Amino acid sequence: MITGKNYVGNELSGQGTSTYKTFNPAENIDTEWELLEATGEEIDNAAKKASDAFLEYKNFSGTKKSEFLKAIANEIEALGDELIETYCKESGLPAGRAKGERGRTMGQLRAFATLLEEGSWVEATVDTAQPDREPLPKVDIRKMLVPLGPIAVFGSSNFPLAFSTAGGDTASALAAGCPVIVKSHPMHAATGELVASAIIKAAQATGMPDGVFSNLNSSGIEVGKKLVLHPAIKGVGFTGSIKGGMALYNLAQQRDEPIPVFAEMGSVNPVVVLPSALKENGSDWAQKYAGSITLGAGQFCTNPGLILGIEGEELNHFIKELGNSIEILDPTCMLHPNIHRNYEKGKEELSNQGGVDVVAEYSKETNPNFGKQKVLTIAGSNFLDNPKLHEEVFGPFSIVVRCTDEKELTAVIGRLKGQLTGTILGSASEFETFSRTIATLQSKVGRLIFNGVPTGVEVCPSMHHGGPFPATSDSRFTSVGTSAIKRWVRPVSFQNWPQDYLPEALKDDNPLKIMRILNGEHTNAEVS
Ligand code: NAP
Repeated sequence: MITGKNYVGNELSGQGTSTYKTFNPAENIDTEWELLEATGEEIDNAAKKASDAFLEYKNFSGTKKSEFLKAIANEIEALGDELIETYCKESGLPAGRAKGERGRTMGQLRAFATLLEEGSWVEATVDTAQPDREPLPKVDIRKMLVPLGPIAVFGSSNFPLAFSTAGGDTASALAAGCPVIVKSHPMHAATGELVASAIIKAAQATGMPDGVFSNLNSSGIEVGKKLVLHPAIKGVGFTGSIKGGMALYNLAQQRDEPIPVFAEMGSVNPVVVLPSALKENGSDWAQKYAGSITLGAGQFCTNPGLILGIEGEELNHFIKELGNSIEILDPTCMLHPNIHRNYEKGKEELSNQGGVDVVAEYSKETNPNFGKQKVLTIAGSNFLDNPKLHEEVFGPFSIVVRCTDEKELTAVIGRLKGQLTGTILGSASEFETFSRTIATLQSKVGRLIFNGVPTGVEVCPSMHHGGPFPATSDSRFTSVGTSAIKRWVRPVSFQNWPQDYLPEALKDDNPLKIMRILNGEHTNAEVS
């Protein structure tokens, strides 16, 4: 049942009087759910409980934390149709997408559970003493990763499940041993409360300390700001706009104790169509890209917002085919009137820039919050001179840039800001001719794709979903895949520490049987 209250640890709390409703964008009406804005006292209580819970939770074994994560996945599944129906009402996304995202969310939780059961992720490193070393004896030093402390997670609008309440940030932080306080996304707060109830049930069933998880509602920015500034919070996970991400980042750096903010923000995900792709598969790629640009009403961080090619008949044919393929697709509902309004505004602003031509635009009447797709084209020289055209328009929108030659193509990529992904369409034999272009692309992105589309992010250990600023606030870390756990930990060395008081991961007899680096060698052997 959805109550609209806040989870302050295990307690369902409704102190405040200020309320807001979520919105059903498909029907263009408020939903029936009324949410209570979290009060300052509830924020403090959640933070205090998280701090207390951390003292116990950080010492739990991988197996115990793994049971918790698996129980969360099971409890989310047990929410059944109510979760799917609530998700669809609050997001305008179809049930198929909701079910797929639920599966991905449970899969992420279970992947972290497996990582914890195996245990080697703590990067245990042991350098044993050499008392007889000349000219100075060497001491015994052992190092491993330990959790940071309570983490504030901001749910994202475009993934109500996989990047929100029990999404990748929450799963990775809980796996690392950090309690989590979620600032629920106001567009899907009822979905958030349902998922929060599943996490609390799982926490109670697996013996987790009260405060290991809290869920706070808010329709404005004050609750999030207070959370980021709260001394108990030791890190922040965020997915959303550059404006929001940077506001939280700057806030966190102004604290007496600055803390890391891992923000995933804007990206236009450049796609380079090399001559062979235009010549051999131009129509095919045009069709695939019409699908990728409009997938989920274009509301993916990996949406291909920029396509780059070299001028000529074949590029003209590709542009025409892309236009034809995209024009006939039916627009779909966007997440919220605000996102739709931002989309319309961004589309118009970029359409009015000098040198821009319209390739295709869906112009028929649609329901109010549906995102009508649009593709523009511009010459490379005009694009280079106009940074406005380099900005992300969040929705089913893309610009095709016509470059005169390889030199201009490389210059255009060199002028772009950091990106999550960069794609090359072509043949391996073009890697030599376009080596400068490809090297420049690599310097800008976190994931390189060959002959594919950037939408669709596989959740696996080798995935890097991050990139140079402003794609993310720290390109060294990913927010997708099990490596995301590394955002919430720090290394600690133990010098000459008594065996009995070392963490299990660092003990001589390696009781966890994990892979460690022992005197420079990867092994799961004991220290002899
Ligand atoms: P958003 O405005 O960045 O908000 C995301 C979350 O951060 C919300 O919970 C919001 O709280 C909070 N927030 C924003 N600014 C804040 C501030 N100054 N201080 C404290 N908290 C703050 O993103 P959105 O509402 O999801 O969508 C708006 C736009 O963001 C979209 O139109 C799109 O351009 C972009 N976006 C990009 C991606 C991506 O993956 N690249 C994903 C989603 C959205 P409140 O809502 O309560 O104010």
